[in-house]
Amino acid sequence: GRSVHQIQSGQVIIDLCSVAKELVENALDAGATSVEVRFKNNGLDSIEVQDNGSGISPEDFETIALKHHTSKLATYDDLTSLTTFGFRGEALSSLCALSKFHIITTRASDGPKGTKLEFEQSGKLKGTSVVAAKQGTTVVVDTLFYNLPVRRKELEKTIKREYQKVLQLLHAYACISTGVKFSVSNTVAKGKKTMAFSTNSNPNTKENIANVYGAKTLTALIPLDLEFEMDPSNVPGSTQSARNWSTQEDPGSRNIKIVGHISRPVVGEGRQTPDRQMLFVNSRPCGLPQVSKAFNEVYKSYNITQSPFIFADIRLDTNAYDVNVSPDKREILLHDQTALLENLKNALVELFEGHDQ
Ligand code: ADP
Ligand code: MG
Repeated sequence: GRSVHQIQSGQVIIDLCSVAKELVENALDAGATSVEVRFKNNGLDSIEVQDNGSGISPEDFETIALKHHTSKLATYDDLTSLTTFGFRGEALSSLCALSKFHIITTRASDGPKGTKLEFEQSGKLKGTSVVAAKQGTTVVVDTLFYNLPVRRKELEKTIKREYQKVLQLLHAYACISTGVKFSVSNTVAKGKKTMAFSTNSNPNTKENIANVYGAKTLTALIPLDLEFEMDPSNVPGSTQSARNWSTQEDPGSRNIKIVGHISRPVVGEGRQTPDRQMLFVNSRPCGLPQVSKAFNEVYKSYNITQSPFIFADIRLDTNAYDVNVSPDKREILLHDQTALLENLKNALVELFEGHDQ
């Protein structure tokens, strides 16, 4: 029968994107400098992520795929200064419940050999065996939603679109992750493997963008480097959610930086750049429709009607936002969004005025 576990853990893994997101974030949390993502049949057959990070230590083998087991959060107070992507211990447990093969190969830096771990649907460790492996971890997620016929059917129907969406998400991780080599491939029917894209271990985001979108893209971009102090009168020190989120009374610094690369504010230039908007909060890829809208509005006021290329990392105090609002952590709540949008638009206009057209 279908366990409670299987139903309750459907939240963090809702689609193909969330699988790729969770596995890539785990690789980055493990300090990987190389992340390889391999899709089979656009992800319908399997998604495999291999990293060269820390590996999993043997004392964690039994627990990693159990619900709410995480090695990343020592105390609740740590939530206020979160530096890892993961902290809930839900991804592996959900993947065990929602996909067919739950196999991990891992080797820690001090391990002489690799270990292959197999898990039951409940996340309980089924068995281990010794295998040859390089340092790091490989996770294979096979036949996502095999046991949920309606969601599986839906996935089969939409897989082409889902695969394009997942690539866009991986572009964002690859562009923001400096010093990390990404390589993404897809093997479709008849075993033909095609490279989707790859990056080198670049020291800056500009070179990552060139790797992903082509060097020509850079000529149509200008650096984005905004900094402003939020007006404290607009900013209640501790809103209800901030109080729940933080155990501290100190609202933290109100200083905000927005850095990245954006289309030149010149009519006609938008055509040379891909129609892409990538937004990050403290280097965490996320969807922020209101922020996108603010950028677009400023471009429109300069009569630029093509959608601009936006790559913008909003850097602010961890007390100024909440990542804990949705289980998949894709949504982020900025506590003072209205003030931030006003500041952003003003600063952008100033940047464009100063820009030599
Ligand atoms: P979380 O990331 O929130 O801790 P996950 O379910 O994603 O939860 O992972 C559970 C645990 O498994 C992690 O805390 C980590 O110890 C281990 N783990 C998962 N993936 C990797 C990886 N690629 N490299 C090293 N450890 C990993
Ligand atoms: Mg995780």
